[in-house]
Amino acid sequence: MAGNLYDALLGRLDREDRLLLTDETAGSVSYRAFADQCARLAGALLEAGLQPGDRVAVQAEKSVTALALYLATVRAGGIYLPLNIAYTPAEIEYFLTDAEPSIFVCDPSKFAALEPIARAAGAKTLTLDPAGKGTLTDAAAAAEPIAQTSSRSGSDIAAILYTSGTTGRSKGAMLSHDNLLSNALSLVESWRFTDKDVLIHALPIFHTHGLFVATNVVLAARASMIFQPKFDPNKIMEAMPQATTLMGVPTFYTRLLQHPGLSRESTAHMRLFVSGSAPLLAETHIEWQERTGHAILERYGMTETNMNTSNPYDGRRVAGTVGFPLPGVEVRVADPETGALFGTEEIGMIEVRGPNVFQGYWRMPEKTASEFRKDGFFITGDLGKIDADGYVHIVGRGKDLIITGGYNVYPKEVEMEIDAMPGVNESAVFGVRHPDFGEGIIAAVVLKPGAELTEQSVIKALDGRLAGYKRPKKVAFMAELPRNTMGKVQKNLLRDQFAGTFEPAAAK
Ligand code: AMP
Repeated sequence: MAGNLYDALLGRLDREDRLLLTDETAGSVSYRAFADQCARLAGALLEAGLQPGDRVAVQAEKSVTALALYLATVRAGGIYLPLNIAYTPAEIEYFLTDAEPSIFVCDPSKFAALEPIARAAGAKTLTLDPAGKGTLTDAAAAAEPIAQTSSRSGSDIAAILYTSGTTGRSKGAMLSHDNLLSNALSLVESWRFTDKDVLIHALPIFHTHGLFVATNVVLAARASMIFQPKFDPNKIMEAMPQATTLMGVPTFYTRLLQHPGLSRESTAHMRLFVSGSAPLLAETHIEWQERTGHAILERYGMTETNMNTSNPYDGRRVAGTVGFPLPGVEVRVADPETGALFGTEEIGMIEVRGPNVFQGYWRMPEKTASEFRKDGFFITGDLGKIDADGYVHIVGRGKDLIITGGYNVYPKEVEMEIDAMPGVNESAVFGVRHPDFGEGIIAAVVLKPGAELTEQSVIKALDGRLAGYKRPKKVAFMAELPRNTMGKVQKNLLRDQFAGTFEPAAAK
């Protein structure tokens, strides 16, 4: 496709005075100013010893400088490796030992704890605080700006993003320059982004959604963004009259629905609301449409593949589905065990192939090989189906599938029934060990304020709606479901919490 991603996204615009972003701390930043900052940061990385292909690992709060560091690393020929700001020193040690970066950037407050870890892994540590200050910024101010973009081929690696790793070791997904560029271009086209667009950017920038989907799309479209350090419903409401688009995780939308100011008028300037990274409840979609007149556009992707499918820009955006394959992306559903292809409406493993699909897991060739079919399709680990109209539906992660008494139960099917009960806000259905059935089903349920459901009334209401083996053996009421920063329900935590529920000792 092309060479260095930097040239395709920012290099072609680096003399333009048009606005790239506004930010509370950095103020108004033009394309030219941002590119100049990238050039200096890239110069600092080179002076710190960065060689092409070296990893630059970064655990820093969201800031314009942190965003510029991503593009500076790519421009200098390095591999950008962002790390969740919530990771503890022990977790950071695993990532640095595994990735062996030559440079590590962290918050100054963590320098004392993390510098020795980074040194042991062979990395030099620089600092960057939320206001964009630190030894990295000092080095950039003193550095000779990079004169030329490092020459890279499209298949060279531009970034490594570690998967969240809820089971087993977290794996480094290697994304090439072409993987990222092809996806950005495809999303610009599918979502009709132009240089008139203003995106509200309130997502974290250590994850594919905020780092690649949001940022790369804006750059590829020559658009601009209102850059916000974190999700704050009031700030989003304030930004909407100046903005045209929002990309969010489902929790953005459920929280915004609680805002009294959300209305047709307050969203009148907006043309598009995108949701992804976790399932959007059909109820949220409907409620949003009633309140604002906008149908949220839901899309589906993952760290390893960038974005795979999207509901249509023109045409029906169907609640509870993730739409059609993006241009150039092939999606199919197959038997998880044998790989035999399934037909319409049959639930199985979702597999994808296309220019968006990653180059493999960092230093794990066997794991990589086992996740691909012979014909190049990536086995996503998500279970789903394609309906008669071609819309893709996700029913959950393969590892969340419950097998009880030898029967397969897709948690989503049970969750949808429970969520539809009056008084229920949301639910999460999962399995834990059961001495007789292998796994026993538990439903964690969050009620609406004032609702008076009991365990028995929930189970009874499922009578006649779901086969007996699909009905939960236990219903646990919770104030909220455990979610990670991307809004995903952490079923692994629920399984841990309720692990002994059906063991004989617990029955006493
Ligand atoms: P991550 O790699 O952190 O982006 O997580 C990717 C996973 O998030 C996918 O494999 C899906 O399980 C889930 N996911 C992303 N988007 C959606 C969506 N729109 N609906 C349901 N699940 C989603």
